[in-house]
Amino acid sequence: MQLAINKLSKTYSNGVRALHDVSLTLGNGMFGLLGPNGAGKSSLMRTIATLQEADSGEISLDGLDVLKQKTRVRQLLGYLPQEFGVYPKVSAERMLDHIARLKGVADAKERKALVGALLENVNLSKDRKKNLGTYSGGMKQRFGIAQALIGDPRVIIVDEPTAGLDPAERNRFYNLLSQLGENTIVILSTHIVEDVSTLCSNFAIICQGEVLYAGEPERAVQSLEGKIFTKAIAQGELPVYQGKYKVISTQLKSGRLHIRIIASAAPEDDFSASAPTLEDVYFSNIATRMDVNTI
Ligand code: ADP
Repeated sequence: MQLAINKLSKTYSNGVRALHDVSLTLGNGMFGLLGPNGAGKSSLMRTIATLQEADSGEISLDGLDVLKQKTRVRQLLGYLPQEFGVYPKVSAERMLDHIARLKGVADAKERKALVGALLENVNLSKDRKKNLGTYSGGMKQRFGIAQALIGDPRVIIVDEPTAGLDPAERNRFYNLLSQLGENTIVILSTHIVEDVSTLCSNFAIICQGEVLYAGEPERAVQSLEGKIFTKAIAQGELPVYQGKYKVISTQLKSGRLHIRIIASAAPEDDFSASAPTLEDVYFSNIATRMDVNTI
């Protein structure tokens, strides 16, 4: 499978430019779409999911015109939106059965087998009779994946799936997602760098509707080898360092501000060299667009 996005642009009627000349090529496996809130991730995902129109540009899925052949594309698609509403008084089993019927699985026996397998797959078998309103955030997300998998989709879109999950739930969800990728394109949007480093073989950084970086996480990290330096400073000193260096991130630890800078050679002022991380890649790209204090 190949999903090719070419020069996609979208400006909403209120004048917000959500996507600007976005071009990306995605193959099978897990693709991370990383960017801050408001970057345009959901807009891009909704457009790929055929739920909203673009102003210009093209998207093709193995030769299908995604923006025009919507019905055909929808048959190949599974989508877990950011705000996934569930009917609180319906059990997971009944809800999945209902969605499967809507998606065209007419035979009751076939549906029962499918729903059973899906619940097993997302580890909700023992909770299948419980009403969805009683589910934890992580259980709801796993249920969301189960419904997105109905119909054996070739492209699965998951929008900010780990936001609001506790670490254990997030881990369970990672395990589930990592099993999906092989013969499928999985697009995962997130503002959490760890989601990408844990799961994705390819990723893009998107900010203010533009693609700032696209590639493999490992290579991206390698490209910063020898360029990241760190130092603990007093909080009030930050503006001085920002004036002198390219500060890409700051973190408060025990009252001291640990700053990370990017520089082509070792700076003066007692900095220590530090191994680059994907977070450095992210922040160094984003910092060109945003004030580091607001990231
Ligand atoms: P993300 O998913 O990365 O948080 P979105 O695609 O939701 O980003 O939003 C991108 C920008 O477009 C934001 O400034 C947002 O406020 C704006 N936006 C999103 N949806 C709409 C809409 N339906 N109408 C107007 N503006 C919108």
